[in-house]
Amino acid sequence: MVICPHCPDQDDSFEEDTMNINSPPTLMKLASQRLLREEALAISALKDLPNMLFPVMFEEAFIDGHTKILTTMITVWPFPYLSVGMMINNLTLDTLKAVLEGLDILISKPVLSSRCKLKAINWMDTAHSLHGIWTGSHEVERLPEFMEQKQPYCGVKRELKVTTRLKLMEGSLDECATYLLQWAYERENSIHLCCRKLKIQGLTNVTVTEIFKILHADCIQDLELCCLCLEDLDFLNPYLKQMNNLLTLSLVEIKDTVSMDYARNLDEEKVITLISQLPTFHYLQELCVSDVPIIKSHLKECLRCLKKPLKMLCITNCALSQSDLDYLPYCLNIFELKCLDLSDTPLSHLLLEPLGFLLERVRHSLECLKLNSCEMGESQFNALLPALSQCFQLTELNFYDNKLSLLFLKKVLYHTAELSQLTRELYPAPLECYDNRDVILSHILENICPELLDILRAKRQTVNVSFATTECSNCGGAYVYDVETQRCFLDQTPLWD
Ligand SMILES: [Zn+2]
Ligand SMILES: [Zn+2]
Repeated sequence: MVICPHCPDQDDSFEEDTMNINSPPTLMKLASQRLLREEALAISALKDLPNMLFPVMFEEAFIDGHTKILTTMITVWPFPYLSVGMMINNLTLDTLKAVLEGLDILISKPVLSSRCKLKAINWMDTAHSLHGIWTGSHEVERLPEFMEQKQPYCGVKRELKVTTRLKLMEGSLDECATYLLQWAYERENSIHLCCRKLKIQGLTNVTVTEIFKILHADCIQDLELCCLCLEDLDFLNPYLKQMNNLLTLSLVEIKDTVSMDYARNLDEEKVITLISQLPTFHYLQELCVSDVPIIKSHLKECLRCLKKPLKMLCITNCALSQSDLDYLPYCLNIFELKCLDLSDTPLSHLLLEPLGFLLERVRHSLECLKLNSCEMGESQFNALLPALSQCFQLTELNFYDNKLSLLFLKKVLYHTAELSQLTRELYPAPLECYDNRDVILSHILENICPELLDILRAKRQTVNVSFATTECSNCGGAYVYDVETQRCFLDQTPLWD
C-alpha cells in the first residue's frame, strides 16, 4: 500500500483543469448559428447554401436538436458521405428520427433533388484523433471526409448504406439502437445497415438472435465480448463463424461460469472443448484479451485460430504460465507484430527468456511495447534488454510500475537510449523514491530525473519521457516528473495507456 505525502491532509483543492479552453467560433460557425435561429429561414436558405457550410450547419443543428432542419438537410446533402461520428454523444431519439426521416424521403423519391449525392451515412463514433480538427480554422480540411467513403466494401449492395456501431449492454440495446435496427429491418431492400463495431456486454440469447436477423455478420470488423461466461461463448460461436471480415477481437472478463467465482478451479475439459471449437479468423489483425482466466496454459490453442499474422497482441490483466511464454516465440502468427501489450499481467514468477526471444524475432516490426505493472524485477529485465535494444522501430514504451533500483533503471535507460524512434516513454520511479513505510518521496524523484534524462539525451533526442511513482492507495494520484518545469507534480488522474 503506497501513500503519497499529500494524502494525510486530504487537501482537495486541485488545480483547475486548464486543458479545456474553448477556441473562438469561426465565421462559418457564426453564420450557421445565425441561420439556425430562424428555422423557416434556414430551411429556405438550404438550396443556396454553399456546400462547405453544410457540415458546420449540420453539426450545429444536430447538437441543438433542430430536427426539421436536419431532415431537410439530409434530402439535399451535397456530398456522397455524411459522418455523424463527432456528434454521436449528442444523439437523442428525436435527432435520430429526424435524420432517418430524411433518409426515408430520399429512398421514397430518389430524384427529389439533383443536388443530393448522399450514398452512405456513418453513424459511428470516430477516433479521438479527430477531436479538435472540427473546431478552429480547419473545417475546410475535413471536407474530403464527406466526399469519399473510406471504409472498405463489405459486399452488401443497397441504395443507401448506414454504417454504425452497436453496443449490447447488460443484454439489451439502448432506445436509439433499437429504433435504428427496427427502422433498417423494415427497409432492408433499400438500406444496408452495416455494423462495423459490435460490443456485447452481458448476454441475452433472444436479443442476440434478433439482432443477427437484421445484421450481416460479415460486416463486423471489430468485436468486443465482455462479461460473459463459457456457455455464452458457446452460444455465440455460430455467429463468430460467420464473421469472415473480423479485424479486431477483444475478449474482456470471460469467466468459466456465470457466478464469476475466481477461486473455483476451471473446468479444464470445458475450456479445451470451447477453445477447440473457436473458428479460424482469416483476417484478424488485433487480438486483445483482458481478465480472461481461461487463457492460462491455453495460449497456444487460442493463437492457433489465427491465419493472418497479428499486428497487435494484448494480454492484459491475465495470468500466464511458463508454457504460454515458451510458446510465444514459436507462434508463426505474430512475427509481424507492431504492438505487444502485457500490462497488468504478472511475470515475476516466470522466466522471460522466451519473451526476449520473441522481441528479437519482431525487432523489425515492433512499434509499441507495454510491460507496465507486470511485477518485473531485475532478472526479468535482464532477460529482455539485449533484444530490446535491437527493436529500433519502437516508438512507444511503457515500463511503468515495475520494481527497479536506481542503479538498474539507469541500466535500462542505457539500452533504451539506443532506440532513436521513441516518442513516448514511461519509466517507473526507482525504489529509492519510497521510504520504508512506502510513502512516496517525490523530492528524490525530482532530484534524480535530470540525471536519468541525461542518459537518454547523451544518445538521442527525447520527445515525451515520463518517470512516475506508483499510485497512492488513498487518492489514486501518482507523482510524475515534468520535464518542462523540472518539478514533480501529483497527477490525480494518471492515464498510463
Ligand atoms: Zn494520496
Ligand atoms: Zn456491411
